Amino acid sequence: MTTEKQAKLLESLKQTVSHLKREIFTAELKRKPLVFSFENAKIKDAYTFSLPSGWTCPGATMCLAKVGRESGKLTDGPNATVRCFSASQEAVYPTVRMIRWHNFDRLKQAGGSAGLAGLILESLPADAKRIRVHVSGDFFNQAYFNAWMIVAEAKPDVTFYAYTKSVPFWVNRLGNIPVNFKLNASVGSRWDSLAEDAELKSAKIVFSEIEAEALGLEIDEDDSHAWAQDESFALLVHGTQAPGSEAGKSWSKQIAEIKKTNAALPKKIKRTVPPLTVAYLTAQIVRLAVRLAGILATPEYVVKQIA
Ligand code: SF4
Repeated sequence: MTTEKQAKLLESLKQTVSHLKREIFTAELKRKPLVFSFENAKIKDAYTFSLPSGWTCPGATMCLAKVGRESGKLTDGPNATVRCFSASQEAVYPTVRMIRWHNFDRLKQAGGSAGLAGLILESLPADAKRIRVHVSGDFFNQAYFNAWMIVAEAKPDVTFYAYTKSVPFWVNRLGNIPVNFKLNASVGSRWDSLAEDAELKSAKIVFSEIEAEALGLEIDEDDSHAWAQDESFALLVHGTQAPGSEAGKSWSKQIAEIKKTNAALPKKIKRTVPPLTVAYLTAQIVRLAVRLAGILATPEYVVKQIA
């Protein structure tokens, strides 16, 4: 076989492998209720729950960004000055996007507050002690907000917390929020003045430590200010900012400093990747096809599809 033909064959085998992986992921996802994740780089010892960024954020303005469910294309909102980190994640990682839309789809099928609360309770990880509600997304209507309050009342041993720009849903229930649900009004919403008037605990994005100091706010680095105390606080602007924006310039400055520090560190060990041969890819395709056939044939999967 010529080198050109071999390259084409390898490319087509690679595409088949990635297609099968995606099919398996989709089929497995369809069998699940809501999907919670455990920990991430910043959030430790806690489960997280996410919805599609922007699409579920009625209070977003300066941070508004949406990613096409199928296309993966990120579009900033008309008043966006800070790039939504969660939207950037969805644009880069299709599986992250799929999980978030899966959660939103399931919730939309659940009906009113009682149905939504039932679905969330059924899906909660049994060993959860702390849950960050919405690493991405937000309370998209009052019934959904109320559902989480029902869930918190039903699980007094679990600490729930959320940042939210959906201020009116919170204000409508002032004085009626379970003690184990810590809410933080995310500054920069359509309803900042409502949050201020109601004296809600808030979290404000700042571009530097000096700015936080001037505002008299502590900077949170590990989410503990959001769930372990009741004072307002600041968050330092994160990466993936739009170039040229104030947030982008601030982030570039921080990145330059990080790069300078990293340059002094020992070089990383290069990871070696096994060569993709025709034999290896063919074996992978057979293995994945058998696995997919097994998933699609399970009674549980068939019932879910019919329902
Ligand atoms: S509210 Fe949060 S998730 Fe929604 S668009 Fe703004 S930053 Fe993104």
